[in-house]
Amino acid sequence: MKPYSFSEILDKWNAELIQELYEGINEDKVLHALIKDSLSVEDLIALLSPKAVPFLEKMAQKANRITRWHFGRTISLYTPIYLSNLCASDCLYCFFASHSGIREKRVTLTEEQIRAECAELSKKGIQTVLLLTGDAPKIVPVDYISQSVVIAKEYFKSVNVEVYSMDEKQYKQLVDAGTEGVTLYMETYDKNIYDKVHLSGKKKDYLYRLNALERAGRAGIRKLTCGVLLGLSNWRFDIVWLALHAKYLENTCWKSVISLSFPRLKHTPSRFQIPYLVCLEELVQIITAMRLFLPHSPFNLSTRESAEVRDHLIPLGITSMSAGSSTRPGGYKVFHKTTDTQRPVLEQFEIDDHRTIEEFVEAIKNKGYDPVWIDFDPGFIESY
Ligand code: SF4
Repeated sequence: MKPYSFSEILDKWNAELIQELYEGINEDKVLHALIKDSLSVEDLIALLSPKAVPFLEKMAQKANRITRWHFGRTISLYTPIYLSNLCASDCLYCFFASHSGIREKRVTLTEEQIRAECAELSKKGIQTVLLLTGDAPKIVPVDYISQSVVIAKEYFKSVNVEVYSMDEKQYKQLVDAGTEGVTLYMETYDKNIYDKVHLSGKKKDYLYRLNALERAGRAGIRKLTCGVLLGLSNWRFDIVWLALHAKYLENTCWKSVISLSFPRLKHTPSRFQIPYLVCLEELVQIITAMRLFLPHSPFNLSTRESAEVRDHLIPLGITSMSAGSSTRPGGYKVFHKTTDTQRPVLEQFEIDDHRTIEEFVEAIKNKGYDPVWIDFDPGFIESY
């Protein structure tokens, strides 16, 4: 029998079915899910339900135990490098959007500028980076991105990308250039909301984006990172679909590590009000429930969150964090200082944790954890 595609799995686990399961959750089902070692989707729904809120402390304790069992007391560090802030898509929530109305400067880094950014971060000890662009394949084509990976590989051991959706051949080009990981958030699996917040551009193609990580896995990308943009939709549905996606990728792209991120929308352009703000207690429920459902998966948390929140979440299931981040191209060296007469370079979103890499490393150690600069030996890929 032909295996289900992920869109068929989404059809099966539709909102009506998930709603019905939420309505059937009671305290016994939450407690039952809490003592199991291997959780079903129904167990996950129990832990994500409002009925699980009184048991958050127990969920946190178990998430802490499981994470230490699989990852030890470690936090992997990475830093984003924005290559370009040009974008041909129009996503309502993003400052890079083609019609965001923001008049700050749009730039694409030259090879020399990329080297300057890499050299600056490398001096600070960073060994893992995430290269980012907007969705502008004509201005920032695959050749430019793969050449940027080649340059970054001269400075760092692990180079990952967060760019637009590609076809399998293009992902293969990134693998050949030395790319280790691809991060690509679906933003929301809710098709109606997806259509409403993605007004135009390539990103509007829901199905093409939905299947992108699977294409990346087939092309040989070692680490696939998925996520939803918390705040766009009702997270009690989107997180279930995200969990199904992670499980699906584990099965279909079994040579790849499947990792998850939990970006929470906080700052948006004035034309967009966040419709489903997620509070800290809800974020804790999401991360701990997902840790119990996906015990082996690396979980990331970025500098979108404040220093206080990030420190609080370290023991609850997070295994990887960005450090010393800037979300503007050239933010570390080339356009680090802007004179009064210059138009500032546009950043994608405001970060809330402004600590330097050194300060953040100190904070991790103070929590009793070890910062890890590289969590995989790329030599394994070459000898694979
Ligand atoms: S989210 Fe990505 S595709 Fe959408 S506007 Fe921002 S940079 Fe462009």
